[in-house]
Amino acid sequence: MYYIKRKAKKKDKPLPLFDKAGVTVKKKPDLKAKLDKEFSLFIRLRDCMPNGYFKCISCGQIKPFEQADCGHYFSRTHLSTRFDENNCHAECRHCNRFKADHLEGYRENLIEKIGQQKFILLKSKASEASKMTDFEYEQLIKYYKALNKKLLKEKGI
Ligand SMILES: [Zn+2]
Repeated sequence: MYYIKRKAKKKDKPLPLFDKAGVTVKKKPDLKAKLDKEFSLFIRLRDCMPNGYFKCISCGQIKPFEQADCGHYFSRTHLSTRFDENNCHAECRHCNRFKADHLEGYRENLIEKIGQQKFILLKSKASEASKMTDFEYEQLIKYYKALNKKLLKEKGI
């Protein structure tokens, strides 16, 4: 299998990994980035209406699919909810990238969408520590890849 080697930016330069014996471990291909990509596409497709438009979870505006981001309510720094379907919804680029207070509208609409109970559970999940194995990453990538293929066909995007 081939992996496209992307130029590493200074900030995501991998730190050397060591196993318990202090031996340097070779870093695996970036499974997290791959899963981010598939999962983000899934969220945007899931929230896309049959007419190719979506409703922004934060501002409520209807916008074309191309302007959708996968917006996380609890930020991506929380690995435990980074790939949680309740934590991620289609959000317009403007809200996700430029609006400092977008989470206020997001919170209100999120509770309306998933319900108070799931929101409380999500909040507690976000604060938990989480670790994912390479196997879990690989399985989830496969899962969302297959689902995206199906959704792309269904939604005609
Ligand atoms: Zn918006």
